[in-house]
Amino acid sequence: MRARKKRHPLYRAFIWFGLLVGALGLAVFIVFGNPRPFFAYSKTAGQITFYATTPIPESFAADIAKIETRLRKVLPDNPFPEVSMYVTGPGWRTTLFFVGSPRASGVVYFPLTRDHGFLRGADFAHNRLVRDDRPAPPPFTLRQYATHELTHVLLGQRLGVLRFHRLPHWVAEGLPDYVALGGLDAQTYARYGQGRRLGYYAPFRRLVTAFLEEKNWTIDQLLATDLTFEQAMAQLG
Ligand SMILES: [Zn+2]
Repeated sequence: MRARKKRHPLYRAFIWFGLLVGALGLAVFIVFGNPRPFFAYSKTAGQITFYATTPIPESFAADIAKIETRLRKVLPDNPFPEVSMYVTGPGWRTTLFFVGSPRASGVVYFPLTRDHGFLRGADFAHNRLVRDDRPAPPPFTLRQYATHELTHVLLGQRLGVLRFHRLPHWVAEGLPDYVALGGLDAQTYARYGQGRRLGYYAPFRRLVTAFLEEKNWTIDQLLATDLTFEQAMAQLG
């Protein structure tokens, strides 16, 4: 009688571990790509829908319309796609949906989140982002945080996965801040650029402003550049 092939004692453990990781990956793929069932409330204006775990006041529709106006101005896509923002807090959804970036205020996982992004909390009535149960201090508003994240979403759709992830960092984060907060001129940057007052990405926003408004690059030129931050800085002179 032939002896049964002997397997390493860890063989079964490896198989089960592999299956578990696979199942977990599939679950994340499904839930992150389709978070709608986890959010009871929504508000739509134009092409943008906000989802939340608490009711969204009717007055916020005007804010959503302003977000779209800003996005359309800088990224004149035609037709403008339907996109969504999911406000995860308060509660367990923030832990789940911010697992890849636990301290971030907003996050997108492109291409998993093809047409949406996440914000960790909101005071809709006062147009403020909420972090750890407290409104984020001025000057940045909920609209601006949402505009930043939705710019990532639109860039992902426009560029495709490969180029989206190969964008120089100063373009990838500088352009969303430029869309959300507006241009940053040299004097203002020289005066306030060192602190957090102009935003975490102020050096990148300054550079994007210089290329778009002073060197008159088009958005497509900016999105095609491979200049590193240092090279781009050197071009400014
Ligand atoms: Zn960003």
